[in-house]
Amino acid sequence: LVRLRDRLSRSQNSLGKGLLTLLSREHLDEDTWEEVEDTLLTADVGVGPTQELVERLRERVKVLGTRTPEELRGLLREELLALVGTDLDRTVHTEVEGAVDRPGVVLVVGVNGTGKTTTTGKLARVLVADGKSVVLGAADTFRAAAADQLETWGTRVGARTVRGPEGGDPASVAFDAVKQGTEASADVVLIDTAGRLHTKTGLMDELGKVKRVVEKQAPVDEVLLVLDATTGQNGLVQARVFAEVVDITGIVLTKLDGTAKGGIVVAVQRELGVPVKLVGLGEGADDLAPFEPEAFVDALVQ
Ligand code: GDP
Repeated sequence: LVRLRDRLSRSQNSLGKGLLTLLSREHLDEDTWEEVEDTLLTADVGVGPTQELVERLRERVKVLGTRTPEELRGLLREELLALVGTDLDRTVHTEVEGAVDRPGVVLVVGVNGTGKTTTTGKLARVLVADGKSVVLGAADTFRAAAADQLETWGTRVGARTVRGPEGGDPASVAFDAVKQGTEASADVVLIDTAGRLHTKTGLMDELGKVKRVVEKQAPVDEVLLVLDATTGQNGLVQARVFAEVVDITGIVLTKLDGTAKGGIVVAVQRELGVPVKLVGLGEGADDLAPFEPEAFVDALVQ
């Protein structure tokens, strides 16, 4: 918890500082509230959530009378926390319920370059460190480099990588990965998919097929959508496209180390109705953390 807060604070605390400075002004006039709104919008919080938050803050500050920095910080912390949500299920479901003899299956989807393969590798590392046996499926068959990259991660963390011929059928690689994972009594199969967005129909056909084919053997326990936090509104557009193709069950927000626009957490959850479950905080193997609302908000307002 402390780690996430410390790692985030460098990139994120400009939002909190900005808001606290504004709210500490002696006279909170219309212009100030507009600045509060702009600050939130600049941090990618999104229009709807921004308006809600400003309204709540206006109400609460009004009844506060005098405003000490500590009171303001506490108030802001509470309201941001409410916006981020403390009661969502943020567990990454890799465990199979009951005595079923099959691996947990996780599909990792997202646009190329967002950090899909890196996230798959980091997640494998966490699971292996947790004593689980993991099989990786390199279902991005369009880029040989992507399969190589995944295999490198596999070797590094101690997970077998199943791959197919370059240009082969992604669904068949995904099928093989689950098959081999089942035969080897693996605990978890993580499938890294292709994220070409040239044509939406192509993506739909491909991802839909990957999921259907996998489901011939085992239910998919988790579909993680990887989004690059630095892409702002573009990321939201991508999220919408993917959500039309597959049922996303969790969001991984990568590259939060490289942006002050942490508000995207709120915007994307609102957009998809799906919780942020993991965050990427760097390129290294240990730079994946569970998303903890308290730590996140603390980083914003500390
Ligand atoms: P993919 O095409 O979606 O599989 O993306 P990659 O996994 O190849 O990642 C693209 C680039 O983003 C690589 O240079 C990664 O090292 C980098 N990357 C991935 N996740 C993070 C993160 O959380 N923070 C930072 N700073 N870089 C990241």
